[in-house]
Amino acid sequence: MKVKFWGTRGSIAVPGKDTIIYGGNTCCIEIDLECGKKVIIDAGTGIRSLSDRMIAQKEEVEIYLLLTHAHWDHLQGFPFFDPIFNPLTKILVDGLPTCMKALRAVFENRVGDIFFPVRFGELKAQIIYLDKLCHGPLTIEDTIIDAVPLHHPQGGLGFRFQEGNKKLVFITDNELDEDAPPGRRPADYARFCKNADVLIHDSQFTPEEMPEHTGWGHSDFATTMDLALKAHTKRLFLFHHAPSRKDSELTSIKERCQEIAAKNGADIMIDAAKEGSEFTL
Ligand SMILES: [Zn+2]
Ligand SMILES: [Zn+2]
Repeated sequence: MKVKFWGTRGSIAVPGKDTIIYGGNTCCIEIDLECGKKVIIDAGTGIRSLSDRMIAQKEEVEIYLLLTHAHWDHLQGFPFFDPIFNPLTKILVDGLPTCMKALRAVFENRVGDIFFPVRFGELKAQIIYLDKLCHGPLTIEDTIIDAVPLHHPQGGLGFRFQEGNKKLVFITDNELDEDAPPGRRPADYARFCKNADVLIHDSQFTPEEMPEHTGWGHSDFATTMDLALKAHTKRLFLFHHAPSRKDSELTSIKERCQEIAAKNGADIMIDAAKEGSEFTL
């Protein structure tokens, strides 16, 4: 499995001098499976650069598009993903049913077709809703993908990829909270993430910021670290960086997490996810 970050930011795209290292585009991840199939998680503004590469390299586009949820920062890049205008493109969408509804709504909805000059029905690509992940795993050849419900306003899904003995978990827009409903408590996520080789998790806030942001549906880095330690993950990427967070602040957050790991005697590799970076597992 090869994973590339095309957008690591939460809430809104923030280009500029303070976001050069970790990036300013919103959520988009590309995962190339061993079997040759491609999965994209979310269509935040980061998907536009991915689109450029695919068009430049004339890549045939048959992709799985897994949507965590329908908030703007996870969908806004979709109209700018140029393969949607190519009749040879096939996009297999999965996630909550509201995500498929929202993909259409970007192009046409009840307030009139005022958001984008093209209508959904005019897109040339085949866009098919699979509707698997809400009912059980999605299997792509030898890879098994399971979903977990998010603790986030209006809900959503996190994903776990198992390919042979390799395990990757991607959970963003998730508030780790002991008072969450059953099935969405930190212990539930620890079970879902158990022994993951890589965990990518929402860490939008600092513990100091949490009292002001309880109920917003995002975690702070300390609770994220707690999850990674309890689940015995080997590697952690902090993700969904706050829009106002500067590069220098993210580096010091990463260092604070490394201190927590050292205090707990845990051998865990920690990074703040960087737009444009990739890794293989
Ligand atoms: Zn978000
Ligand atoms: Zn959200």
